[in-house]
Amino acid sequence: MSPSDDPLFVATNACGDQLFPDAPRDCPLCPRLSTFRTAHRKVEADWHNAPVPSFGDYEGRLLVVGLAPGLQGANRTGRPFTGDYAGDLLYSTLDLFGFSAGRFQASIDDGLKLTDCMITNAVRCVPPENKPTPEEIRLCRRYLEATIAAMPHLHAIVALGRISHESVLRALGQPLKAAPFKHGASHELATVAGQPVTLFDSYHCSRYNTNTGVLTTEMFHAVFQSVRSRLDTI
Ligand code: URA
Repeated sequence: MSPSDDPLFVATNACGDQLFPDAPRDCPLCPRLSTFRTAHRKVEADWHNAPVPSFGDYEGRLLVVGLAPGLQGANRTGRPFTGDYAGDLLYSTLDLFGFSAGRFQASIDDGLKLTDCMITNAVRCVPPENKPTPEEIRLCRRYLEATIAAMPHLHAIVALGRISHESVLRALGQPLKAAPFKHGASHELATVAGQPVTLFDSYHCSRYNTNTGVLTTEMFHAVFQSVRSRLDTI
């Protein structure tokens, strides 16, 4: 069954104005996540409280893969990394390296456009305590696979953190030992369709990682500088 015939996929993007495969609003795959977001619909009726679709340019060459929506960030606003502390560093970095146009204002209607770039998450729904289970990561992978398959010009993937890195490898049909996670590393791989793709590893740009010095702004910029240099040679 192709994504367009599957009720577990809907045709949408973050703005709802294009047709691409993503999780439906009431995706039933993960009971724990479904219960969590349903409970939040009662408490915060104005929030998104649903799977957060990918945001950006499906024609783009770069895919950035985060972990999962933050409760008061992407889960509230409906756009990956929007309203999250992590988003301030990610979106300013994308701007610095020419992957966005417009001004990021942490709101879904700030008019920001991504250029040659898409942002998605390994898990589409907000998990309690920011911790998706291995089974939730596995079940949600179909949407990551569909996102990768929907990007015909994909050349580079930035995985933010080990969980995203491993989910990307599995989505590419690669064994984990083919590319061990290491901040700053890059791995030459291919999509299941045979398109060559370079996977760039970064520590996640979370508040915890930046506050503890695990990830500095310079370290994060260096990853995107490598991506920019690679894409500029294509
Ligand atoms: N917001 C997201 O959308 N993803 C993350 O991984 C973190 C914050």
